[in-house]
Amino acid sequence: MSELTATTELGGLPTFLALDTVSVLDGTRRGASVQIDETYLDGQRTAIETIDAESRFERRLRSVDRTREIYDEVDIDIASFTEENLWDASRRYRELLQRLPETQYLKRAFPETCFVVPEWIRSPSEVTYGPRVYFFREDDAPDPESIIEANIEAVLEDTREAFDRYRGRLHGYPDCCLERFSSADRESDLGPEEASVEPIADYIDDDRLAAGPDPTVSITEIVSGLFETPDAYAFFVREFFPEPGCETARRRGIEVYETLSEVVSETLVQDHFRMNAGWNYVLARSLREVDPGRPAPGLLGREHLFSYLPLSVTSSLPRYREE
Ligand SMILES: [Zn+2]
Repeated sequence: MSELTATTELGGLPTFLALDTVSVLDGTRRGASVQIDETYLDGQRTAIETIDAESRFERRLRSVDRTREIYDEVDIDIASFTEENLWDASRRYRELLQRLPETQYLKRAFPETCFVVPEWIRSPSEVTYGPRVYFFREDDAPDPESIIEANIEAVLEDTREAFDRYRGRLHGYPDCCLERFSSADRESDLGPEEASVEPIADYIDDDRLAAGPDPTVSITEIVSGLFETPDAYAFFVREFFPEPGCETARRRGIEVYETLSEVVSETLVQDHFRMNAGWNYVLARSLREVDPGRPAPGLLGREHLFSYLPLSVTSSLPRYREE
């Protein structure tokens, strides 16, 4: 893929997703995905409001808001968690998700296979749900029903780990890290997420993070010196938690880094890796808190906001114009 085809073929996708899907189209990874949740929708809105002084993106904003409205109204009621009820709820919910303006937007913006599926997450106290949009090459896309089936099976058998591994493989994460992650002893002091970000913790400025989102701060002030460690490359996608020091994860990441550097400016590639590392760091740390969650839009600096804008817009920002 050349620079021109990346920005024309994937230019409409939010930048972080466009970059994630370059390695899918190139065959480095099988698939990519994003959850359409509050963090995602807030990110779209905040990013557009920050840069769009001339209201060029008004239609886009309306579509994000409409998605939010529908998303907030959804209330799936399942009488009891039987296979039949879960399938029934999945079908009804999926129909609705396919009509979300954001789902349709992403589908139009991706040249190969893109679909949405409901995702059920079982925790000890409840089952929560939300939409996840997947991106695959046409010739290597699984059937959406098979993803739902694996998910339902995990809910019924209460085996979240098996579904995590299945989903990790769909995304082309190294098997060794997936095995290690799902067999980790969660009772120990350091959970697998925290252990995963240990090797990069020294490169992240906790004081800056504690100060909250500030669009005048650059990600390089929050995540600095990251590429001094080869571990940086293991963070090739957000929410994949590499096993500390894993050579396979680093190699996969270097492949992704090189593929991306051929199609967009290297500064953008580096910011993408900084973002992934910072994102995982914040998420891992938050797991100790009462209300764990993903980093608020802009928490990782202004480039964090840029990552929500379409690639065609981001790649033309002064910071990313070919150096
Ligand atoms: Zn590994």
